[in-house]
Amino acid sequence: MRIACPYCGERSLDEYLYSGDATVRRPDTSNPTAIADFVSYVYERTNPPGQHRELWYHAAGCHAWLVLTRDVSTHAIASIEPAKDVALGASPAMKDTA
Ligand SMILES: [Zn+2]
Repeated sequence: MRIACPYCGERSLDEYLYSGDATVRRPDTSNPTAIADFVSYVYERTNPPGQHRELWYHAAGCHAWLVLTRDVSTHAIASIEPAKDVALGASPAMKDTA
């Protein structure tokens, strides 16, 4: 699999580190259910076929955090966005899902 970094161009998968689901949100520690929320946050995952939004780190390149929308059955990449754009709401894909 090759990933086209928005800053460096297309590079081998060997340059990247997978960092998990990009859609989960860290629980609020002030919530009375925080312990149960953290157990769910850390251990409970579904793994359906189809497109996933994933967090990747370009470790051997520009050190950018990226959000990939990838089909986990075919490995086809539908979009690659800088994670900072997603976090700031500047990503078109995030506007579509909001
Ligand atoms: Zn890069």
